[in-house]
Amino acid sequence: KINALNVLALEIETGPEARVLPLTAGRADALFEHDGQITKRAVRAVTLAALAPRRGELLWDIGAGSGSIAIEWMLADPAMRAIAIEGDAERAARIGRNAAALGVPGLKVIEGTAPAALAGLPTPDAIFIGGGGTDAGVMDAAVAALPSGGRLVANAVTLEMEALLLARHAALGGELTRIAIARETAIGSMRGWRPAMPVTQWSWVK
Ligand code: SAH
Repeated sequence: KINALNVLALEIETGPEARVLPLTAGRADALFEHDGQITKRAVRAVTLAALAPRRGELLWDIGAGSGSIAIEWMLADPAMRAIAIEGDAERAARIGRNAAALGVPGLKVIEGTAPAALAGLPTPDAIFIGGGGTDAGVMDAAVAALPSGGRLVANAVTLEMEALLLARHAALGGELTRIAIARETAIGSMRGWRPAMPVTQWSWVK
């Protein structure tokens, strides 16, 4: 179905400066306004694949940061729905701007802290935890909110969050993946690999 929003999502601007959005997740970090707190494109692509969006489903993006995960979920199909929960006011406002600029103004932004901010939200099909996972009650609230068959994906950069994910995996099962990305960088006149901090990802179906 071609409608105005579809066209907006594909063509951010028209004219010689036109940027056309790729169809798959893992879009360039530079497409998103961010303050450094963004899931980088390679990790984001793996994360969206694990979240496995299906037409019309609802995602909760907890600790949404720039909103990049919820926005790429929304971009999978015009029927997608997502709620971004972000505790920082400046970042919450930025998520709204990113959603508008990338053609998914239907993304709902909740400025509030999980788990309290999750109360009363409509039942999700999938949940991503990108921040706040170590705050008391957040993991429990996410697990409880999912219906049977719902998917939970959580990423850890810190040892504290990783420890929580290892414990959940031991108790509930699912899949653990370690994502270690390195990017090319200059070493004098030559080149080398600059490793990014590894991400531990727990992916679980309720
Ligand atoms: N996936 C995001 C990056 C997340 S950074 C992106 O791609 O842009 C983690 C975010 O979680 C931060 O913005 C932080 O403000 C937010 N956060 C941390 N604890 C939270 C909580 N309990 N509730 C809501 N947001 C939280």
